Amino acid sequence: MASEFDLIARYFTRTAPTGLLGVGDDCALFPVPPGEQVATSTDLLLEGRHFFPDVDPKSLGHKALAVNLSDLAAMGARPIGCVLGLALPRLDEPWLAAFADGFHALAAVHGCPLIGGDTTRSAHDLAISVTVFGAVPANAALRRDGARAGDDIWVSGELGAADVAYRLLDGQYPADPERLAATRGALEWPEPQVPLGLALRGIAHAAIDISDGLLQDLGHILAASRVGAVLHEDRMPAAAALAGLPAQALRRAVLGGGDVYQLCFTAPAGRRDAVLAAARSAGARVTRVGGIVAREPAQDAMPAATRAGDTSAPAGAPRLVVLDATGQPLTQLPAGFDHFPGA
Ligand code: ADP
Ligand code: MG
Repeated sequence: MASEFDLIARYFTRTAPTGLLGVGDDCALFPVPPGEQVATSTDLLLEGRHFFPDVDPKSLGHKALAVNLSDLAAMGARPIGCVLGLALPRLDEPWLAAFADGFHALAAVHGCPLIGGDTTRSAHDLAISVTVFGAVPANAALRRDGARAGDDIWVSGELGAADVAYRLLDGQYPADPERLAATRGALEWPEPQVPLGLALRGIAHAAIDISDGLLQDLGHILAASRVGAVLHEDRMPAAAALAGLPAQALRRAVLGGGDVYQLCFTAPAGRRDAVLAAARSAGARVTRVGGIVAREPAQDAMPAATRAGDTSAPAGAPRLVVLDATGQPLTQLPAGFDHFPGA
């Protein structure tokens, strides 16, 4: 019977890169380059809430780290290392081996070694907690509060596939094996946009990763930056696998669908070429989907002096407007994910 320490040694101990103290002591140690700040973020994944109990453990190991790396990407931070907390209801070594495989493989791709963690037995469900550490030069982080009127709004990758895969697996949509096969990868193997986040330093004014849906996550940028936005529905990079869905399902997936782990960011209109070059260098696709506008003072109690010229939204306009293909504003916008709706 393997002990807790055997398991840690077998599945979670890897040789730490030079200069780091990894698994095996009371704390891990890592250096931070002079002039840089540590960026850190943590995400909790719970069985039945964030993943189906029978999900492929290798993809789960991948995703547990991917969603955290996505937060580093959204700040423009370079990964340093990560720690992993595991609460396991039972000892299932093949499951653990596959989980560790998926986790370490993605860690290697992004230079984010596992340097510590905690392993316990749980009474019922499986719980996974990952914390990542990254480094970013002081004042270079891509924050949510930097968007300005006149900025373009960009989205990386494609939208909507993960939402459709989730609803198919959850039984909300009638079984459709072909569409499930075409969308499932987006849900279970998200690719964190770390190289893009790094390439956008000094170009993007604000960024966020899309975990709860484009409209909801962009909403966080708008609130933090005290600005408004106009989006064009027909410019959205909808995943090809969504073709043929009913209009409402398509709109909900593209504008409101979560689990995307692509970046939504704003950048000055004068820097379009720089954005495209950054995306090219990162091997990412980016699409310009709208623009940032100033908000009227009544919406926000914002002093008029801080508003920019002729890009203002009309008085009393909502913070976020989505125009359909005919230029008409959508009157009903799909909601993003919220663990405590109405709280
Ligand atoms: P302590 O009791 O001092 O907290 P533990 O016995 O919990 O130490 O862990 C022993 C070592 O193994 C520590 O270095 C810890 O960071 C590491 N560790 C434990 N669980 C994991 C895990 N799931 N992934 C990576 N490292 C782990
Ligand atoms: Mg411990």
